[in-house]
Amino acid sequence: MILGKQGAGKGTQCMRLSRHYVVPHISSGEMFRAELKSGSEAGQRLNKFMKAGELVPDDVVIDVMAHRLTADGTKDKGFILDGFPRTTTQAEALFDLLAPEGLDLAVDLQVPTEVVLRRLAARRVCQDCGANYSVDSPPAVDWICDRCGGEVVQREDDREEVIARRLRLYEQETEPLVAWYLRHDKLVAVDGLGPPDVVTGRLVQAIDGRLGGAAA
Ligand code: ADP
Ligand code: ZN
Repeated sequence: MILGKQGAGKGTQCMRLSRHYVVPHISSGEMFRAELKSGSEAGQRLNKFMKAGELVPDDVVIDVMAHRLTADGTKDKGFILDGFPRTTTQAEALFDLLAPEGLDLAVDLQVPTEVVLRRLAARRVCQDCGANYSVDSPPAVDWICDRCGGEVVQREDDREEVIARRLRLYEQETEPLVAWYLRHDKLVAVDGLGPPDVVTGRLVQAIDGRLGGAAA
């Protein structure tokens, strides 16, 4: 499971880790955005929280994630979790869900707030596959995704007012999980500054170091 502020690089790094360890990347945010795009009624309900940068209520999140983790033997085959849990209530629910084996490791991907603010303002994402770009490294052709041909746009919740709210919520609701996982002796911290390849290298080293390469 990867913890980190919005813009710390969780999405980008989780896609790479998912290829490296050949396990699915499960992102609560991506799942909610997909639900929204499907136009379902559940998606409509999520929209009002997500647009405002508010957290989706714990019971809704826990229900969705419990289904996802129990589907297709995911729980036993392994996975990378991104964006869940992000409250203590969710961490406790995940603990129960994964008992008795529990989570292998929680990684705290650390990036200073000044840096994530800059990254989020510049961030652009593919509407279809979720690939990340920025105004400084756009897709090759006119905001068309290099990977899937989808449209690359700014997320509605990456606007400045909403970003401030999301970061405040991170501090209040999610940062306490660092101490929570530390107490459970599951935490490893990784420096998220620097080129993506370098960060991926650090992550793999930290994960293999703690799990003895067993995750591979
Ligand atoms: P970010 O971490 O940058 O806010 P995500 O893509 O992870 O972006 O999530 C987008 C939105 O989805 C969040 O702002 C929130 O509204 C909702 N969300 C995702 N995961 C959770 C969660 N575990 N608990 C509550 N809300 C969530
Ligand atoms: Zn794409």
